[in-house]
Amino acid sequence: MTDAFDREVFEGQELVFQWGDPGDSAYVIEEGCVEVLTGVGPAQKRVAILTEGAMFGEVALLDRQPRTASVRALVPTRLIRIDRSHVEELLLRSDSVIQYLMHLLLARFRSTHDAAGLQHRQGVAGDTPHADSSSAMDLHKAAVRTLSLAQDLSDAIDREQLELFYQPLIAFDQLAVVGFEALIRWHHPTLGLISPVEFIPLAEKTGLIHRIGQWVLQRAVADWAELRPFCVADANQDPFISINLSAPELAGGDDIVAAVQKCLSQHGMAPQELHIELTETIIIQKMDDVASTLHRLRALGIGIALDDFGTGYAGLDYLQSLPFTCLKIDKAFVQQVNHSDRSLHIIKAALELARSIGLSTIAEGIEDAHIGYRLSSLGCSHAQGYHYGKPMPKQQMAEWAIKHRAAQTAFLADLTPS
Ligand code: C2E
Ligand code: CA
Ligand code: CA
Repeated sequence: MTDAFDREVFEGQELVFQWGDPGDSAYVIEEGCVEVLTGVGPAQKRVAILTEGAMFGEVALLDRQPRTASVRALVPTRLIRIDRSHVEELLLRSDSVIQYLMHLLLARFRSTHDAAGLQHRQGVAGDTPHADSSSAMDLHKAAVRTLSLAQDLSDAIDREQLELFYQPLIAFDQLAVVGFEALIRWHHPTLGLISPVEFIPLAEKTGLIHRIGQWVLQRAVADWAELRPFCVADANQDPFISINLSAPELAGGDDIVAAVQKCLSQHGMAPQELHIELTETIIIQKMDDVASTLHRLRALGIGIALDDFGTGYAGLDYLQSLPFTCLKIDKAFVQQVNHSDRSLHIIKAALELARSIGLSTIAEGIEDAHIGYRLSSLGCSHAQGYHYGKPMPKQQMAEWAIKHRAAQTAFLADLTPS
């Protein structure tokens, strides 16, 4: 843990920081000892001696105020420095409830110190926990929303508030629909439609993801009988429906494999018509657990797509060792293909890589014909995006698919010489 932080070495009697210095880091004493002094000039007095393992200057991690004490090494001393920027980055990655709690604790801490007369700062008269700034209000609102959504989410399945939308996946060569991606939606009774980007992470943290994941699997497989007639078989694959899986579901091992197997046999669905999508982040987090689950799912015949390709920071070795059948290129690159050389290079490299190991490719987030044309000419096999069809409820998707087939037939007729 400590290896992520820098060390600083001080001689005996050397100041680590003094009263009034900008506070931007905390320290842990790895070796040696320091004295803590309050006041300045002749009024300065020692209030503590700290030895190995003690931390000081920690308020600076959360608070941008100047130091309210001085600290001096008494003997040669080695300190581990923890920067505020590092802590802020960790906090930003934490959820809104943790952020709000930290804010509240800091405000309480400051008010206690102010009351005890320990804080001798200028210009912070309004800096009390109750003088809520707009950012504190925002934090508060976000935390309350998270807490109440977490509560409501536990009832969402039983109250039938969840729905799967379906987005068409299109083969570039004939513009035919080859499959659908199932994307979950939550119809909240008072807040309206809530995006999975907001509630899936919450479900993962609260453990509800297992129930939600089961619900998605059951729903998608049950809906497939109605959706399948709108798809055509592709050169290399049967029509398919694709579902997204989260890290906790995949790390569960036997549970998910058994559940998938049972669900397929209950509905008489061919395993190769079910695909699962997972992101690189999931693989990085739980490589060993995920690898064995993926191999077992693949052994059943299920297709496995690597989602959001290019956004993770993993090496590429795992592409060889995990049984992927498809690579989905993230929309961040796809949408910039005509504007950014970097995106273009990443896409070309991804397509070449997929070709060399025999994976199909889906370009996500295609919003206009130019981008679709570009991706197709670069050799990508499949498309997904608003330009073709947005995610829609099942009934609407059926209507869309009928119209799309008519348009596609006309398009192909135009191409055929008379
Ligand atoms: P994803 O798997 O990358 O899904 C694609 C997202 O891109 C979807 O957002 C889709 O609506 C959006 N999209 C598709 N075409 C376009 C386009 O042309 N332009 C733009 N700007 N966006 C497009 P959505 O439905 O909000 O889902 C967001 C994420 O939530 C998904 O990203 C997936 O990671 C997660 N998710 C959705 N459904 C489920 C689910 O059932 N289970 C789990 N575990 N995660 C899910
Ligand atoms: Ca996906
Ligand atoms: Ca994606």
